Amino acid sequence: MNRERPARLSLSRALRFEVFKRDSFKCQYCGATAPQVLLHLDHIVPVSAGGTNEITNLVTSCIDCNLGKRAKLLADDAAVTKARNQLEELQERREQLTMMMEWNLSLRELAQQTLDVAADYWQHYTPGWSVADEGRRDLAKWIKKFSLQEVLSAMDVAATHYLRFEAEGAIIEESWDSAFSKIPGICRVERESKDDPEIRELYFIRGIARRNCENSFRNAEALELLKDARFYGISTDTLRTVAIESYSWYRFSTDLRLLIREARASSEGESDET
Ligand SMILES: [Zn+2]
Repeated sequence: MNRERPARLSLSRALRFEVFKRDSFKCQYCGATAPQVLLHLDHIVPVSAGGTNEITNLVTSCIDCNLGKRAKLLADDAAVTKARNQLEELQERREQLTMMMEWNLSLRELAQQTLDVAADYWQHYTPGWSVADEGRRDLAKWIKKFSLQEVLSAMDVAATHYLRFEAEGAIIEESWDSAFSKIPGICRVERESKDDPEIRELYFIRGIARRNCENSFRNAEALELLKDARFYGISTDTLRTVAIESYSWYRFSTDLRLLIREARASSEGESDET
């Protein structure tokens, strides 16, 4: 049989539902809504003029607009163009929503892959050990706060300075924990010193003092003292000399406090005179 069904009858229930949902079950010509009116689908470009059953060529129309006022409305080019533009915009928005969902999924995958890279990188320093779930959660947090590159660089520093090994070459368990936990602090220091090259110099000076003083050295306090000293105008050359000559935390901190007190006294003296 070569008989063709009328176009409207060939529109599936699913397609009609899609168009009605898209148009909020509202006639796009007069604004009447279901269930007050019976809704039809209207072809924007009529089937007789080559219009297709694509969703972009279909619009929700009440029965009156579809049957009665149709000729008049279709003659009105502006209204048809407007309706069509709205449809294309709606269609575009739906496509963008789908794209956004796919994008979100791919971002989540990317985050997972980034995390794997970081965990693998740490594991290559610590053969025989793997990063457990809790460690991976920490890693994810650090990557978010800093960047993968910063975390990997910090791992280089942490592994070199804080991993300790048994005579047979196995990693001392506690050093794994302490080295791993140093990673975010190293990231922070690196970032801080990028912002301020002088901070890098102060870290370097502190490193000299720490090596000379060995035990009981107070890292955070030493940095605060060095920053205070710079604040009161004591040169990094002087600070380096103090660090080189110090042999205990007590000596180092006492010398620094003395310098700071003198520098502060003289700076306050100056401001009194003005
Ligand atoms: Zn209508």
